[in-house]
Amino acid sequence: MAGETAESGRIHNDLRAGGAAWGRVLGYLKAEVGETAYRSWLQQLRIERIDDGEAVVAAPTRFMRNWVQTHYADRLLQLWRVENPAVDRLSVIVDAKAAAPPRPRAPDPAAAEAASPSEIAADNATLSAPLDPRFTFENFVVGKPNEMAHAAARRVAEACAEPTPQVPFNPLFLYGGVGLGKTHLMHAIAWHVRNNAPRRKVIYLSAEKFMYQFIRALRFRSTLDFKEQFRSVDLLMIDDVQFISGKESTQEEFFHTFNALVDQNRQIVITADKSPVDLEGLEEPMRSRLGWGLAADIHPTTYELRLGILQSKAEQAGLSLPPKLMEFLAHKIVSNVRELEGALNRITAQMQLTGREVTLESTQELLRDLLRASERRVTIDEIQKRVAEHFNIKMAEMTSSRRARVVARPRQVAMYLAKQLTSRSLPEIGRKFGGRDHTTVMHAVRKIEELIASDRALAEDVELLRRMLQS
Ligand code: ADP
Ligand code: MG
Repeated sequence: MAGETAESGRIHNDLRAGGAAWGRVLGYLKAEVGETAYRSWLQQLRIERIDDGEAVVAAPTRFMRNWVQTHYADRLLQLWRVENPAVDRLSVIVDAKAAAPPRPRAPDPAAAEAASPSEIAADNATLSAPLDPRFTFENFVVGKPNEMAHAAARRVAEACAEPTPQVPFNPLFLYGGVGLGKTHLMHAIAWHVRNNAPRRKVIYLSAEKFMYQFIRALRFRSTLDFKEQFRSVDLLMIDDVQFISGKESTQEEFFHTFNALVDQNRQIVITADKSPVDLEGLEEPMRSRLGWGLAADIHPTTYELRLGILQSKAEQAGLSLPPKLMEFLAHKIVSNVRELEGALNRITAQMQLTGREVTLESTQELLRDLLRASERRVTIDEIQKRVAEHFNIKMAEMTSSRRARVVARPRQVAMYLAKQLTSRSLPEIGRKFGGRDHTTVMHAVRKIEELIASDRALAEDVELLRRMLQS
């Protein structure tokens, strides 16, 4: 990359005090957090100074400062102390110089003029796809798996609705599996901007529609018109760009549009099912350009998030469901939020048709196909094997009677996962674990549930295992 030498030159100058050490600290952290998180949060950090035992690190934006402060500061300090034990504090400050300076945009004079809603609608409707009225920030339930994506989306929405629009990171790249809320977040950004800064021009398009429009423009030799439509856009959002990959001419057009907008400091938001690094069939310049801003990953849902979403949706629909039933659904329908909504819709319809209260039994019957589809054929043997590997214990410990914590805890995790991921009953699970009693299994399930709420590291282990087993 062309900026590489200037960048490292600057770092060297800044770091008479310990540049090499800082480089190593970042290197260690990169190995721990992975490429994507590193690029999103750490790469742009600069060591500002070391003063009297305090290391001062600069981040380019306030949002990044806050994020680094809450998520990485402790670890940075620990690693830093290995390099230099004299350092005992670390603070993160905002330093706009740390990033390429965004070109300020003149306040939009048109924003001051009142516009009729129909005018605005007509203006925005030229290209933009319709927005789903339910997909707002208010209706989006935030949990650990989507916390970062949500925060970033909010930040972009608010910045774009300011009197002088700001561009906190360009592009914002949201990625994750199907049905996890990517489109919802994009629409939410659009709604926020429309409601708070109605004159701003927002285009929301699926990548497929973008492609279709472009190809049509080619056919009718109206590519100039096509380009014209994007020229004045303040916020461009393209959904599911994985569908652009492979189509070279469209990719190129997209790339040009993208570059032109970034150069004019217009906000771009992109979603895809994979990170920029992992998107296949994408030309290299496009791929690296997509990774320049902030890439935020939406993780698969957790039980807590699913339960939260169910409660919120049931409430919106004016539905009162027994808590046990919601817990059951949150446990069983793990694939994505769309299926969870599907289940809820069916239950609503059933209640309205029959006028009867729903029970756990009637729900099981009603959702039999959904529940079965959700139940990946994971076996208890597989679970035991994976869990043993993960915690580095012998497979035989899964059935042994040893009670030392190092083996008992993994065993409990395996029982918990067996309960969650298979349809086996408690006694059946107990039998598979060296003939244990069903109350032992129940105890294990409760114990792990408790620990997941209080012990972050364990919660992550369990989530990781669950994902591995289900993929
Ligand atoms: P994606 O674009 O990632 O495939 P969507 O944004 O279309 O997923 O989400 C699928 C459905 O799930 C939508 O109806 C959406 O409203 C809902 N949904 C996803 N995540 C959440 C959430 N955190 N809170 C509320 N609803 C959600
Ligand atoms: Mg989508």
